[in-house]
Amino acid sequence: MQPVTRDLSTLPKAHLHLHFTGSMLPETLHDLAELHDIRLPQALLSNEPLRVPADQRGWFRFQRLYTAARACVRTESDMRRIVDEAVAADRSEGVGRLEIQIDPTSYAGWLGGITPTLEIVLDEARAAAARHHVDVGIIVAASRIRHPLDARTLARLAAHHAGDGPGEVIGFGLSNDEHAGNTAEFAPAFRIAARADLALVPHGGELRGPDHVAEVLRHLGPDRIGHGIRLAEDPRLLDEVVARGIGLEVCPTSNVALGVFADLASVPVETLITHGAQIALGADDPLLFASRLTDQYLGLRQLGWDDATLAELARSSIRISRASSMVKQRLLQAIDQWLATPPEVTD
Ligand SMILES: [Zn+2]
Repeated sequence: MQPVTRDLSTLPKAHLHLHFTGSMLPETLHDLAELHDIRLPQALLSNEPLRVPADQRGWFRFQRLYTAARACVRTESDMRRIVDEAVAADRSEGVGRLEIQIDPTSYAGWLGGITPTLEIVLDEARAAAARHHVDVGIIVAASRIRHPLDARTLARLAAHHAGDGPGEVIGFGLSNDEHAGNTAEFAPAFRIAARADLALVPHGGELRGPDHVAEVLRHLGPDRIGHGIRLAEDPRLLDEVVARGIGLEVCPTSNVALGVFADLASVPVETLITHGAQIALGADDPLLFASRLTDQYLGLRQLGWDDATLAELARSSIRISRASSMVKQRLLQAIDQWLATPPEVTD
């Protein structure tokens, strides 16, 4: 008897950890590079999945490639294309709710400032949500490698556009090198975002361990943590995160690509779940890691996870999203249906 499986690309899910530039399709990056006459590094031309050691040189290599890709995004139509394609691509993978994050600072120089940059993204997110029938929310993310005052400016911009409707700002994040910046200095920015009722979703606990998550908890009061995978190293802190109802955006392929774990089997997703953590699998930067959202679920299936367990993971992604309760209910029902449909027998 061969294993019976359902199509994971039709499993309804929420995608809560995806970066704007990192969401780009390889062919789009190549088009934009040609359009703006930019020479791409070989690693971006080849579309080979990135694999770096978990040290500073590895992170810098990742950042260099990310910056090279970002440099190809220069016009309003580039921005709109990326948003539209991110929504369409995720739709084809069963995503019913997408929360995509962007640091508008990176593109503001070409587009006349952070305000017009964000407004283009919000406008296109609204249109793409309707076009592709996906519920879309935008997360504004500040960067640890810039001054905390810049984070405050971004938090105020995010707060100004806060809302629950399609294509509104639903969250505020903090990304980039976990070794950079002083977490406490970003607390005022997170307070601004909290007052606007934005979801607080800083990165933490990927490149650095539980000590980093502890800092994030103490100073930023997160609703979800981007990654948090290394909480598995500190069961007590993990239990505290679970007790506080803080969700984790777990991105297994990203962890392996950045050398945090040797392979997929070593990523301790199961430890987090055993402790009751609410998890949303995420692709992080499919452009660099050559692995999309469904691939995260497929990877776990290859490790022996059955459909009921994978469906429960998808449920958890929806529960910890910022979707409205109506959308959540609809997507949760669709997951029940997916699981109730008998799988195809392959032989
Ligand atoms: Zn990330």
